[in-house]
Formats: sequence, structure tokens, C-alpha cells
Amino acid sequence: MERFCLDCQAVLKGRADKKFCDDQCRSNFNNHAKAIDITLVKQINKILLKNRNILQSKNPNDKTKIKKVNLQNEGFNFTYHTHTYTTQKGSVYFFCYEFGYLLLENEEVLLVKRNEI
Ligand SMILES: [Zn+2]
Repeated sequence: MERFCLDCQAVLKGRADKKFCDDQCRSNFNNHAKAIDITLVKQINKILLKNRNILQSKNPNDKTKIKKVNLQNEGFNFTYHTHTYTTQKGSVYFFCYEFGYLLLENEEVLLVKRNEI
């Protein structure tokens, strides 16, 4: 069975466990993989920071109840958060850095701020 270089897709000759034509292809491939990693991290950081800024702008007094749609309209991304905080009663607050929210009934959210980690 023919095997192909992971970087340039050329047909590989030689040892069965060979993955690249040569060191050039190997380092090319690894650098590209790193670049993709960094791009992904940057994208997620950007989302987290945007989320944080939205929470901050909607919560000037450290505790506010608003409609969930108000966050969605600003482009809030509910998939990403930095950490969670579970109260003794079992309520789970989602945080983007120091700003957090608790999903309530009736499509509302309680916005909070915690200054300590
Ligand atoms: Zn190659």
C-alpha cells in the first residue's frame, strides 16, 4: 500500500513507519500544526473577552437581572466560559473572568461580579 508524506503528500519510499519525505517536510508540518493551535487559542480568547465585555457593559452595579436575549443580541457566546461556580444549593454560575451569569426561569439571567478567584 502506498503511503504519503503528511506534509507534501508525495509518495513515501523506505521504512514503513516513515511519515515525511525529510526533515524539511517534518518541520513544515509541525510549524503548520502549531500555527493552527495558536489560531484556535486566539479565536477562543477573543470570544471569552467579548463575552466578558458584554457582561461588564450589562452589569455596571455588580448584580443585575436582564433578559437572556439582551446578551444574545450583543453576540454573547454561551458555549465559552472560563470557569463555573456552584452554590451550596446547586445553582451553577458561569463566568467569563470576573463577570458571571446564572440562567434563570423565564429566559432571564442574573449577572454577577466576583473579584476574588
Ligand atoms: Zn514531503
